[in-house]
Amino acid sequence: MNIALWLFDAAQRWPRRPALFAGSRQVADYQAFAARVRARALHLRQEHGIAPGERVALLMKNSCDYLELLYAIWWSGAVAVPVNSRLHPLEAAWIIGNAGARLVYTDAGRVFEPGALAEACRELPGYDLPPLPAVRGDELLEPWPREADELAWLFYTSGTTGRSKGVMLSHGNLIAMSLCYPLDVDPVSSGDAVVYAAPLSHGAGLYNFIHVRCGARHVLPQSRGFDAPELFGLARELGAVSLFAAPTMVKRMVEQARAQGYAGEGIKTIVYGGAPMYQADLSQALDTFGPRLVQIYGQGECPMSISALSREQIADRAAGDWPAIAASVGRAQSCVEVRILDAEGQPAAPGVPGEIVVRGAPVMQGYWDNPSATQAVLLDGWLHTGDIGFLDARGYLTLTDRSKDVIISGGSNIYPREVEEALMQHPGVFEVCVVGEADAQWGESVVAFVVLRSPGSLDPQALNDWFVTRMASFKKPKKYLFCAELPKNSYGKILKSQLRQRLQDPTGPGGNP
Ligand code: AMP
Repeated sequence: MNIALWLFDAAQRWPRRPALFAGSRQVADYQAFAARVRARALHLRQEHGIAPGERVALLMKNSCDYLELLYAIWWSGAVAVPVNSRLHPLEAAWIIGNAGARLVYTDAGRVFEPGALAEACRELPGYDLPPLPAVRGDELLEPWPREADELAWLFYTSGTTGRSKGVMLSHGNLIAMSLCYPLDVDPVSSGDAVVYAAPLSHGAGLYNFIHVRCGARHVLPQSRGFDAPELFGLARELGAVSLFAAPTMVKRMVEQARAQGYAGEGIKTIVYGGAPMYQADLSQALDTFGPRLVQIYGQGECPMSISALSREQIADRAAGDWPAIAASVGRAQSCVEVRILDAEGQPAAPGVPGEIVVRGAPVMQGYWDNPSATQAVLLDGWLHTGDIGFLDARGYLTLTDRSKDVIISGGSNIYPREVEEALMQHPGVFEVCVVGEADAQWGESVVAFVVLRSPGSLDPQALNDWFVTRMASFKKPKKYLFCAELPKNSYGKILKSQLRQRLQDPTGPGGNP
């Protein structure tokens, strides 16, 4: 089944329901949304000769055009390759080349130097597109038929480590992960408004499907990105707003909301995930916004759909087990099974950390044109996530780290996440990131990059004194490096690789912290 059938169906059932909003202004109802999409799908086919299965890339900031182009690609039977718009043109060109895309839409159609893209690939402007003439005839009246296992979205992993790989998500994968949302994350109704404050090329974009299926409103902020005051204004005006936000975005929302005396009016749900949310930050978010938060855990390879932690459990701070529950990523979502494997590949006992593996309908088809990478992570039908965590006896999953992030010092495994949690509880600490550094004596030693709320207010000794009252001293950082901010990618994830580079070459481009 082609996932664009959800749009076709919504337009038939609810032609006059408001669909697309540029800021708070409605620009299309569902009938107009589907009609534009069909016209663009025909254009792709007739003007550009795009055949079913061919790839079309999008390298654009968020806009209504973006959503229309995505659906046009699927309606025509082709495959969308949404690329992070903040990548360097050279990185984007690599992805577009790797995907073998025939077309790439960029905002103004002028990102790439001549010769930067393969000969067979054309760059076109995709933002503020002029309307296409009304379509006559009956070609592509309905989305082009697709099987559930046919490719819909080539999702290039965000690449906080190594070169990004094209995760193959089929129509069936997208349908499965979308159906988990109302079951495990948040029920959706037609009165809802999903605001795309994070890039459509990533998790936020994947949340469009279920909102199309339910005939809800899709709101593309005028800033074309994340701007907390704008978001609060939209929520107040439109009401019933839900959004996906990385933990760093939630943190910025909290600061801004506190500064302007906003308490979440008009926001229905903030779904956070994609990176750890520290308990100190979660508590502040709850103080500020109340019971509006839901957590998900996923990865490109099993998008947004490994586990979820419910609104009720996040908000129930009176529960005795809240610290443990809030530190977890919740329970397996409806269409997946989650296990923890020990070093021998056997299921680990409750509470014992090991690699998180998952299987189920949203799990990717493999990596594009990369069978060896596929074989390394898809084993016996299980996706090996590369994340380390444990399941408790009740089925709550807690992430301790990514396997490659574990620091092995003097033969002991140290999970950066727990060191970070302990330091984050210090009221003077704003952000922290812990990495390992090669150490002649111990193999590796623990290094903490720390951003203080007020620069100069704490020294390493003060942090050490704090730390040893909370954690085993073998886990304590050997070094504290204070910096003004931590490097992050455009999805708000801290770039550990850059911090490791800084350690190797403090005078290099990463800069001396
Ligand atoms: P990506 O494929 O770029 O979306 O990155 C996925 C990775 O982000 C996962 O494998 C985890 O390491 C991390 N991640 C995703 N969700 C969470 C979460 N709720 N808490 C902590 N880490 C997360």
